[in-house]
Amino acid sequence: MGGAGTLAALNAHIVACELCPRLRAYCAEVARVRRRAYAGWEYWGRPVPSFGDVKPRVLALGLAPGAHGSNRTGRMFTGDGSGDFLYPVLHAAGFASQPTATSRGDGMKLNGLWISAVVRCAPPGNKPTPEELRNCAPWLDEEMRLLTSLRVVVCLGRIAFDGLLAHAARTGKLQARAGLKFAHGVEYELPGGLIAIASYHPSLQNTNTGKLTRAMLLKVFQRACQLAQGPPAEPAEQKRAAPIPKYSRNSHGNR
Ligand code: SF4
Repeated sequence: MGGAGTLAALNAHIVACELCPRLRAYCAEVARVRRRAYAGWEYWGRPVPSFGDVKPRVLALGLAPGAHGSNRTGRMFTGDGSGDFLYPVLHAAGFASQPTATSRGDGMKLNGLWISAVVRCAPPGNKPTPEELRNCAPWLDEEMRLLTSLRVVVCLGRIAFDGLLAHAARTGKLQARAGLKFAHGVEYELPGGLIAIASYHPSLQNTNTGKLTRAMLLKVFQRACQLAQGPPAEPAEQKRAAPIPKYSRNSHGNR
């Protein structure tokens, strides 16, 4: 999987990936059957490439495409309830050129932000298997290697947070994750200088119930913007011995 050279080349490799038979079959079937509301759409139906500013200071890391969202439109967080919640916040925080995301051709531009996910194909029930998470992990490793200006990763949900820590362990930057616990609003500076911020995922399950509010998510991205002013993190090849949970907070008082 390695050696893609550029983010565009990496995305081209990702879009052609067939490593997970269950997910590839599911995405293709969803694209074939379609939801009645989108009967006129030609679904993307393939692994969804990452999207954004190729010199980002901040990465928003999600879980996986939605079956009728990104799997339909072909762009991260575009065309479903999660994206309808996320993009207005990104716009308010200054990362997105517009608050609405409807299709790959909607004119959206990201500034200082790259959006990716730990799994690139829509999983049934939004639940990838451990094997599928492992299959997709090298794409994140390669992407992180190419994102040389990165300073902050906003992990949208526990699985994304775990995926980032697993990436840090695979690349030798994190020896143990003791003390690095997921909670909304916590921040950790990882060895090498990359700062991880954990957030609840903007899924309808969280936003419809008020577990994640617009104000909570906006605060996360405003904080990411503030933290991103520092120097970029060291590249993955430079290893450090131990985790440094330098920043740790729970700004919203709930988990
Ligand atoms: S989930 Fe990732 S590894 Fe699996 S088929 Fe899709 S792109 Fe490939």
